[in-house]
Amino acid sequence: MALEFRNVTKEFTTNSGARLTAVTDVSFRVEPGEFVSVVGPSGCGKSTILSMTAGLYQPTQGEVLVSDRAVTGPNSHVGFMLQKDLLLPWRSILNNVEFGLEARGVAKAERRERAMAELAHCQLAGFENHYPYQLSGGMRQRAALARTLAIDPEIILLDEPFSALDAQTKLLLQNSFAGTIAETGKTTLLITHDLAEAVLMSDRILVLSERPGTVMAEIKVELPQRDKPINRRTMPEVADYAAQLFKHLKLEEKAA
Ligand code: ADP
Ligand code: MG
Repeated sequence: MALEFRNVTKEFTTNSGARLTAVTDVSFRVEPGEFVSVVGPSGCGKSTILSMTAGLYQPTQGEVLVSDRAVTGPNSHVGFMLQKDLLLPWRSILNNVEFGLEARGVAKAERRERAMAELAHCQLAGFENHYPYQLSGGMRQRAALARTLAIDPEIILLDEPFSALDAQTKLLLQNSFAGTIAETGKTTLLITHDLAEAVLMSDRILVLSERPGTVMAEIKVELPQRDKPINRRTMPEVADYAAQLFKHLKLEEKAA
């Protein structure tokens, strides 16, 4: 499914009653099956963009369209994954992955089958009866991805899913998430403040300005080694590419 923002502005009223413009005149389009990252400094409205895509907030001005239809409220086209895995601690990993299917009234046998398939897809086969506390942070994020994919959304929204992880785990997950999501062919919007991560994972990057966020630049990622696993030989090239982009966009202090 395509996702489009047309001249979207979002204002909030703060607790003190003042108006705050989170994003202003944001326009972009994500084609079906495309993986697009949104990068920008903290507070520039990245999460607000995801919330409007999910229909949790309405734009103050402009339009958000999914498959050329205006988003008017929360809808089942979208699967949302956050920095915090939000797994329920009293449920097994399998029951956590089944949770969204339960809420949608999917019958038990089908629920189990779909959840098991997604766990395998996210390299968690054999961990279905573990509880969240028994898994590492990286595995918990993979379980959260399995839960997001199990409901078979047409658009995947990822809000800084790796920012709480250590560097090593982060790199592994960036790589495995990119592969897993590419296999689904789903339209994906990733929010990150890490430009190297955006380069590593996406087809295209939207660079936002400081708040109120607006699209400052749009970069098509051209990495010849995208399809190969990331290792110490390919990684310097990615880091180098990201460093060049930082320089080009003069983003060193802001986005790093
Ligand atoms: P980012 O994800 O880029 O860090 P956010 O989208 O979370 O930024 O927030 C953008 C701005 O909008 C911030 O100044 C934030 O405080 C403000 N904001 C976000 N949500 C709300 C809300 N529900 N009410 C009031 N202000 C909000
Ligand atoms: Mg945010």
